[in-house]
Amino acid sequence: MIPMTKPLLGKEEQQAIQRVLQSGWVTQGPEVEAFEQDFCSLTGSKNAIAVSNCTTALHLALLALNIGPGDEVITVSHTFIATANAIIHAGATPVFIDIDPTSYNMNPDLIEAAITDRTRAILCVHQMGMPCDLDAILNIARKFELKVIEDAACAIGSEILWKNHWEPIGKPHGDIACFSFHPRKILTTGDGGMLTTQSDELDKRLRLLRHQGMSVSDRTRHQAQEVIFESYPLIGYNYRLTDIQAAIGRVQLSRLPGMIERRQLIYQWYEEELQQHPKFTLPINQSWTRTNWQSFCLKLPPELKQKQVMNYLLKQGISSRRGIMNCHLEAAYQEKENCRISQTLFQSEQAQQKSILLPFYGQMSREDVSQVCQALNRL
Ligand SMILES: *Cc1c(COP(=O)(O)O)cnc(C)c1O
Repeated sequence: MIPMTKPLLGKEEQQAIQRVLQSGWVTQGPEVEAFEQDFCSLTGSKNAIAVSNCTTALHLALLALNIGPGDEVITVSHTFIATANAIIHAGATPVFIDIDPTSYNMNPDLIEAAITDRTRAILCVHQMGMPCDLDAILNIARKFELKVIEDAACAIGSEILWKNHWEPIGKPHGDIACFSFHPRKILTTGDGGMLTTQSDELDKRLRLLRHQGMSVSDRTRHQAQEVIFESYPLIGYNYRLTDIQAAIGRVQLSRLPGMIERRQLIYQWYEEELQQHPKFTLPINQSWTRTNWQSFCLKLPPELKQKQVMNYLLKQGISSRRGIMNCHLEAAYQEKENCRISQTLFQSEQAQQKSILLPFYGQMSREDVSQVCQALNRL
């Protein structure tokens, strides 16, 4: 069976876990701090704040930017439901706009029509690792004084051409970027998340919010030479990452360049075998994007039924998934008060129903890729 994905975890991760267990400090502490510093080096961000997952990261990003009840946040329906759920958790309303069918990302031309007096922010997604059109999005955000949060759950290691230089996603270009370390993404800590921001003020607020609004960290108290009493200036959450997870994350970060290089090679194999096919449309980079190929989304021709294709592949021992979901088609978002649909979401629905995700992971061999492509060709 060729699975959809496999995390790349080895001896080094095991040794890192052992080191933490032996240290006697297992929750948020020195490893989390070191992981955050490594993450700043990777993304070029001034600040990085580790949290329990990307959903909590998105929630805190919205809270730190003072977005709450009565506010609208423009986003896409064509995303993992966590993006929209985080807006609901903050008490605000997600406003869904359509995607560009080539990039599977927010279509910036549709943003202005969705803006109202209540719009406070744009939550854009770098879907499947492919950078969205940040330049166009930020121009509109500036014009209408909106905040920009980047859902970079899948986009670790992806790059965007910015004023003639390639820059990492998560620098960030918007106000805050949020990452996920779920095993379905490229880099994993089991579960985990990270926020990045250039703003020291937002950094301070995010650190308070993730740890019950507590002014002094456990570690600072532990290391203090004199007694310190902490204070609680605001109501926060327990959204901490543990030192066990952070230690895994540090090893994973050191593997990242190799992992991405390998994924580029796997993409090339798929491209070689499927590019000439008259019926399938492959995902592609724009001149200004360098995706990490977190997922490989294949567009099917109209005459092929998605479920039939997927069942056919399954019988040949090949896993696949349908295209990225649409939040507005799920029962939770059919409740009118939970979202506002600003316009037709035709391209989003097409992308869910007329594309499939193929197996894609670092340990895939050339033969595995050929097996998938041959099955598709027989079809
Ligand atoms: C996976 C994912 C999330 C949620 O990440 P978790 O770490 O599982 O909370 C959010 N947004 C997008 C686009 C994702 O793919």
